[in-house]
Parts: sequence; C-alpha cells; structure tokens
Amino acid sequence: MDLTGSCHCGAVQLELPSPPETATSCNCSLCRRSGALWVYYEFGTVRITGHPENTHEYVWGDRQLRTVRCRTCGLTTHWERLQDGEGKRHGVNLCNFAPELAAVVRIRHLDGADTWEYFD
Ligand SMILES: [Zn+2]
Repeated sequence: MDLTGSCHCGAVQLELPSPPETATSCNCSLCRRSGALWVYYEFGTVRITGHPENTHEYVWGDRQLRTVRCRTCGLTTHWERLQDGEGKRHGVNLCNFAPELAAVVRIRHLDGADTWEYFD
C-alpha cells in the first residue's frame, strides 16, 4: 500500500511509517472546519518534506499544538506539539493520502469540542 501523500499542490510531502488502523474525526472548532482525518504516530517517524519552508502554522486555545498547512494550497497537513514530552506523538491528516488508505481505516469520532472522549 502506498504510504506517501502530499498537500494538493505537492509542496509538502508526507510518508507514513506504517498503515494506520484507525483515524480520528474531531468535532472541535478547528477540526470541524478543516475536515481533517487524523492519524497518530510517534513524533519523528513520519517523513515530512517541504516543512517548515513551505508551510504556515496556526496555534490557538491552550497552545499545545501547532496545526500546519501548506503556504500555497492551504491544505492542512499535520500537527505537532509545541513542547516536548507527553507522548511526543503528532497527527497527520489522512485526507492528503490515497483514498484507498482512508477507505480501510476505522474512523473514530472524537468529542474534541467538549469531553475529549470518543463517541464510540
Ligand atoms: Zn500545497
């Protein structure tokens, strides 16, 4: 299975270390607007090229994360923690990958707007 993806214009390239089994759809005020499907990996295991030279970041709320998007096409590519520690994982937007990859994962719905628990 092809584990490489990119933003729409190709300025940011992503490569997953392994196929995801689940993806998270979150209803928080940011995610519900971007429509991202998040898959999580240990920080540093996802190969990302074109970042940060071709990206912009957005930080909001409790300032735990930077959400990263392409400077040219505007697509959300991934998020990173602002500080080290606490799991050191990061999220990658599966929507930037081949549709076959998203078709086989189990999608979990996260109540990021309120309880931070999964609905399932
Ligand atoms: Zn782009």
